[in-house]
Order: sequence, then C-alpha cells, then structure tokens
Amino acid sequence: MNSNYDFLIVGAGLFGSVFAHEVTKHGKKCLVIDKRNHVAGNIYTENIEGIDVHKYGAHIFHTSNKEIWDYVNSFVEFNNFVNSPLANYKGDLYNLPFNMNTFYKLWGVKTPAEALKKIEKQRSKFSHIKNPKNLEEQAYVLAGKDIYEKLIKGYTEKQWGRPATEIPAFIIRRLPFRLNFDNNYFNDTYQGIPIGGYTKLVEKLLIGIDVKTNVNYFDNKNDLNALAKNIVFTGKIDEFFNYKFGKLEYRSLHFENKLLNIPNFQGNAVVNYTEKKIPFTRIIEHKHFSFGKQPKTYITKEYPDEFSKDKEPYYPINDKKNQNLLSKYQELAKMHDKIIFGGRLAEYKYYDMHNVIERAISESKNHI
Ligand code: FAD
Ligand code: UDP
Repeated sequence: MNSNYDFLIVGAGLFGSVFAHEVTKHGKKCLVIDKRNHVAGNIYTENIEGIDVHKYGAHIFHTSNKEIWDYVNSFVEFNNFVNSPLANYKGDLYNLPFNMNTFYKLWGVKTPAEALKKIEKQRSKFSHIKNPKNLEEQAYVLAGKDIYEKLIKGYTEKQWGRPATEIPAFIIRRLPFRLNFDNNYFNDTYQGIPIGGYTKLVEKLLIGIDVKTNVNYFDNKNDLNALAKNIVFTGKIDEFFNYKFGKLEYRSLHFENKLLNIPNFQGNAVVNYTEKKIPFTRIIEHKHFSFGKQPKTYITKEYPDEFSKDKEPYYPINDKKNQNLLSKYQELAKMHDKIIFGGRLAEYKYYDMHNVIERAISESKNHI
C-alpha cells in the first residue's frame, strides 16, 4: 500500500466519493476505504434479473441546482423518472403528494376552489396553533384532520417509532401541498434515476482512485491514520469519539425482498401504506424506476426498525436531546483540524443526495 496519501477517506458513499473525485482532479492522492463489501454507501444498486435494485431503500435524485444536475449527468445519463407515489389506506389508493387527485378521492371535490374551501374548513379548527411545536400540530395546520389521520399519522408513527407529538415539525414541511392535479412528489426542477444504477455513478467518480472495501477504520485505526496527511470521515461522529458523551439515536429499517415471476406487481415504483397496523411503510417495485420491461419483477417491503449496534443507522433523529449531544461532539471535532467530518452520519443530518454532493464539492474546495 502506498503510504503517502494526502487523504484517507473513510466511507465510499456519495460524500467520500465526490470529495475523493474533486481533490484527485487537483492532483491529490486519496485512499478510500469502506467497511462494506461494495462502494456507493446507501445509494448502492445491484443488478438482479436485469433490474437495478436499490439495496438500501428507494433513491430518487432531485435538485433545483443546475450545477449539481450537470455534475451528476457528466458521469452517467439520467432517465426522466418522476416520483409519483401512491398511498394505500385501508385498501383505498390516494395520490401523493397532497394535490387535487388526493382531494378528489378524499372529498369528491373537483375544482381548486371547492378543494380550498374544504381544506380551509379543516384547517380552521386548528387556527389557534400559531407556532406548531411538533409534527402533529404542523400537520393539522397544513392539512387538517382528514389528511392527517388517513395519510400522515400512521405512516409517520411507524416510520419514527414514536407518537407524532414527539416528532419535530420540520419533517413534514418538506411535503408539497398543491391545488392542481400534479402528482410529482418533488418541487425541484431536475429529477431522474441514473441509467444503469447509482453504483455506476459512484464507480465513475472513483476511477483512478485507490479503493479498499471490507476495511473497517476502527479495526486498524492507527495504521490507517499513518497512511495519510488528512482524514475525511463519513461514518458516525459519535462512534469516531468512542461514544464519549453517549450514543446518538437513529431510526433503522429492514427490507423484505421478493423476486416475483410476474411482470408487474403494483404498477408503480412506490406505494406507501399509511395505516398504523400494517407493519411496513412502503412497497418498492424497482423496475418502475427505469421503466423496466423484464419478465420478472423485484419488490421490497420497507419496515421501520429500532436502531441497534448491528443495524444500519438510516435516519438521524434530530430532536433536542440528540441535537444537544451532537453539539458536544461537534465541539470536539473542531479540535481535530486534520479531520474533515462530512455526510449524513458524520454531520448527523437528514441530507438528500444533492445536498451531500454540494457539501462534498464545497468542502473539497478548502483542500485543493
Ligand atoms: P452513506 O451512503 O451512509 O456512506 C457512508 C459510508 O461510510 C458507508 O458506505 C459506510 O459503510 C461507510 N462507513 C461508515 N463507518 C465506517 C467505518 N468505520 N469504516 C469504514 N467505512 C465506514 N436522498 C435523495 O436525494 N433521494 C432519495 O430518494 C433518498 N431516499 C433515501 C431513502 C432512504 C431509505 C435513506 C436512508 C436515505 C435516502 N436518501 C435519499 C439520502 C441518501 O441516501 C444520502 O443523502 C446519501 O446516500 C448520503 O451519502 P453519505 O456518503 O453521506 O453516507
Ligand atoms: N409522510 C407521511 N405519509 C406518507 C409519506 C410521508 O406522513 O405517505 C411523512 C412522514 O412523516 C415522513 C415524512 O413525511 O417521515 C417525509 O417523507 P419522505 O417521503 O420525504 O421521507 P423519506 O423518503 O426521506 O423517507
């Protein structure tokens, strides 16, 4: 192994790979390691029966930043997939995000004026809530009782494993609410899925860079540190500091996968199950992300799960308690000027892919 690297990059996910690519372009030498047996982190896709399967949950790329859109398209071509999930509540199907199709199904209203009247009436019952303190209050103010009870409450409480009154309001603020028949889940200008899968995007980012998979940083920290002048750490920040102040909490998931001998299971990439008593939150049918015509289909049921040592830390829980703990680790991190902490786990932030790319590019500029 070359012992003269500028950067040891812990984590071959999107943050580590973009950072590595950017500094390599400017003549720096990087070693990227990952404890998993593959690159790409949570955006890893695997081709099964000709279908790109999103192994760590469905990923749809969306951004309004043209530079970021051009950036990812310079490595792989993207298709024109538009995410239009459905919600199944007690056997009935509703369009998401909340739009005229949803309102029509809920209340039979046919025009924006009729819908607005109905929504205002629903919202007016909660006009006393001026500053929503939690997700339940936020949902009442935004959407009223019917939508909250049928499409939000059950899904949210399953997803986060706690009552909606204990979940921060910001989580629901990103859901669009529209008075037209547009089922596009995102408000962004650009959207799509890489043709050939996300793994291809990451492999392209890492061309010409030394990469070692199946290497856990903590198994051999001192030897690995000795290989490079600087470290980019994209794993869990609390683990980096050996849980000195305590453990940050995460929400995890587990997946139940099935290859079915039929061409089409649900006719859509994503169907959410918003009822509390159904234990999974959604069923993903992967082929629909790429308009697949294969004779078989691959589906995944996504079950929210408590996080524990051997499970994947998928979602940070950005409540007050965890934010306070995070601040302590961030203070400690500031004292390590040769270590860059970046990405979803090291920053303990609910980042989308385009956010992570922006962050990695901007961080790389401080080091070239
Ligand atoms: P990661 O992908 O987690 O990469 C970190 C890497 O570090 C991992 O590969 C890990 O194995 C490695 N690592 C950790 N510790 C060590 C160690 N000690 N030694 C060696 N390696 C280590 N974003 C969107 O834009 N659109 C979506 O539709 C979308 N859907 C999502 C759905 C789910 C279920 C989840 C969980 C996330 C979703 N995201 C989505 C967010 C997206 O996954 C992230 O923004 C992105 O993958 C974060 O990249 P990262 O490099 O920060 O983290
Ligand atoms: N949500 C909901 N019903 C749905 C879909 C989403 O109540 O059918 C809420 C839920 O609280 C979730 C949040 O909206 O945590 C954000 O949803 P999004 O689909 O953006 O989450 P992600 O894809 O990141 O899991």
